[in-house]
Amino acid sequence: MAFNKLLGNDTSKEILLNSLKEGRLSHSYIFSGPSGVGKKLFAIEFAKLINCNIDLKDRQEDCNCSSCSKIEKMIHPDVILLEYEGEKTIKVDQVRSDLEEKVFLSPFESHYKIFILDDAERMNINAQNAFLKTLEEPPTDSVIILVTQSINFIIPTIKSRCQIINFSHIEDNDIKSMLLENPSIDEKNIETAVKLSRGSIGKALNLDKEQIDFRNSVTKKLNSIRPDKPTEIFSLYEMVGLDSKDINPDHLKYVFGIISDWLRDLILIKIKFESNSIVNDSMYTELAEYASGKSLGSLLKKQGQLESSWHGITVLNANRKLAFEDLMIKLSA
Ligand SMILES: [Zn+2]
Repeated sequence: MAFNKLLGNDTSKEILLNSLKEGRLSHSYIFSGPSGVGKKLFAIEFAKLINCNIDLKDRQEDCNCSSCSKIEKMIHPDVILLEYEGEKTIKVDQVRSDLEEKVFLSPFESHYKIFILDDAERMNINAQNAFLKTLEEPPTDSVIILVTQSINFIIPTIKSRCQIINFSHIEDNDIKSMLLENPSIDEKNIETAVKLSRGSIGKALNLDKEQIDFRNSVTKKLNSIRPDKPTEIFSLYEMVGLDSKDINPDHLKYVFGIISDWLRDLILIKIKFESNSIVNDSMYTELAEYASGKSLGSLLKKQGQLESSWHGITVLNANRKLAFEDLMIKLSA
């Protein structure tokens, strides 16, 4: 990967590049934006630019100097990626031992010591206050990058000392060209995959053919359920795996997401919204046919039923299987 080849967010890319070219490197940055848009990758690529052994104006896009190669493999002694996976909060001791104590040491082999703290919003208040102390007197040869999807959870005194770089969702066209290079997704499903990614590179990369085929089958089945065809409803239970005793909550959430997209598409078709907003693009004709037989009011009512069913399961602890069955009967009407 090279900095210029990072997907989307061109303005952020330019701001960072210019700060380097003009020697205005900040000691602390916040990379803020939704998840899955490549903020951490940007931070790592930016670290390469900062510590590259070759002068920026002579540097090749895919630089293989010893510094860039080490950062690529994440074995550079001066580039430290702090991730606390599986932990709900980042605590004060972790900030002290992993950052505060190390930041004042001189770099081993590069000009700068670079710390990238992922999911920075997970620092609890004590950890943030400890971190603030480091920011108040930053060592000249260090750069700290906080990566966050919830900047509102970062205390204002930290925010005011950092240069904030905003990241936004990736454009559909960029996601599309990336997916076209991904052999695991059929070309006919590309449009659906682009919509499902909702501007997130992470989501796009996690999609595979099997998942899209499953979605398409469920959506097709939803289109065919009728109150007078109980077998269709039962085959839908089977298809989504809800005929078994134990229903995995993540899977159920996924299925509810599919139903929600189906209803959303129907409503958009009904109100004649631009057709490029439809998630299940490859099924437009079937969806339009279904929508033509329903009133807008009945579709909105179904959406309300879906929401209250989800609320029942997640908040009121309703029996998942019964709640789903009840919902299907209502949706089939
Ligand atoms: Zn290099």
